[in-house]
Amino acid sequence: MTDSNPAVVLVTGGSGLVGKGIEHIINTEPVGSRFGKRPNETWIFATSSEADLRDPEQTRKLFDKYKPTHVIHLAAMVGGLFKNMKYKLTFLRDNVLMNDNVLHTACERKTQKVISCLSTCVFPDKVEYPLDETKIHLGPPHSSNFGYAHAKRLVDVQNHAYKEEFGCNFTSAIPTNVFGPHDNFDLEGAHVIPALIHKCYLAKKNNTPFIVAGTGKPLRQFIYSYDLAKLFIWQLREYDDVEPVILSVGEDEEVSIKDVADAIVKAVDFKGEYAFDTTRADGQFRKPASNKKLLELMGGFEFTPFDQALAASVKWFLDNYNNARTGNV
Ligand code: NAP
Ligand code: GDP
Repeated sequence: MTDSNPAVVLVTGGSGLVGKGIEHIINTEPVGSRFGKRPNETWIFATSSEADLRDPEQTRKLFDKYKPTHVIHLAAMVGGLFKNMKYKLTFLRDNVLMNDNVLHTACERKTQKVISCLSTCVFPDKVEYPLDETKIHLGPPHSSNFGYAHAKRLVDVQNHAYKEEFGCNFTSAIPTNVFGPHDNFDLEGAHVIPALIHKCYLAKKNNTPFIVAGTGKPLRQFIYSYDLAKLFIWQLREYDDVEPVILSVGEDEEVSIKDVADAIVKAVDFKGEYAFDTTRADGQFRKPASNKKLLELMGGFEFTPFDQALAASVKWFLDNYNNARTGNV
């Protein structure tokens, strides 16, 4: 990506947590700065109502409408542990269809670059830690989300094949668990942070116990959506290789689910009863990922401290409760 040629950046999944994070950063960082908009750039944030990317014809129409030079492909069927356990085939099929349509259309239309979004779920369940970019295909993923994981893994295979057969400049990003404003706060389908923010809010409002699923012992790395947005913008402009990059805080920054729940209790100012439902699944115990490659390439990055990012996310939820994605309460 240059500073002079006109660039049209199409962000698929533009209405989601990560898409809204990128839109916020690109519009609020100073113009011309490392993460701000450049004068030669037009950014388009697409939603599923504009084009259902499972459909090849709608995908082609979206590309023909905007003629993107660059694509950040975020659109996906997304969900937390419990949704992944329930809809394995739908996660596999919808994501395979979306990814295949976006990559194939981008190849046909000679799009200059595509970054697709994977997840640390793609990594093998049993492999030496920390996870790094070389370990994606070294064994089967965790059984709880194998549908989603295989669909996302396949993108890495597709990227290599498109490069070798057609010379396409396709690559991928691998974020850890993401949270922030505009998250999906559905009680059953969401990821742990937005689900627990919503549950804690309801427990406070209704004077009922705050129940956290599982033992609270599993460990996760969490990245704030506004930090992740900056890393995507960096990768779009400054990284040109097919191999993925893990976009994450350090592997020494794992947080237990109990620590997450404690931080939410504090941020929501909840004073009632709080318990763990150990009959529910814990999922993968941990999946620590290394951000060594990212930091070496970027020359360092300052992540927002977890408590500060969590407090901002809780505030966003409380301020926007009526318009937030809260599902069927
Ligand atoms: P999200 O908030 O659920 O947003 C999903 C986005 O995908 C929405 O904009 C949605 O559009 C769009 N979408 C869904 N189905 C579509 C379809 N059939 N056609 C077109 N667009 C469709 O998800 P997110 O958390 O921002 O996730 C963004 C990316 O990050 C995904 O690729 C996900 O796998 C990855 N990721 C997320 C996490 C996490 O913790 N959230 C962690 C690692 C990786 P509408 O709203 O218009 O329906
Ligand atoms: P994962 O990282 O892909 O497993 O996704 P999640 O963001 O769904 O995190 C799952 C972890 O949080 C598991 O250990 C769950 O037992 C735990 N957890 C506790 N309460 C909840 C909840 O209400 N929703 C979800 N999704 N996970 C929860």
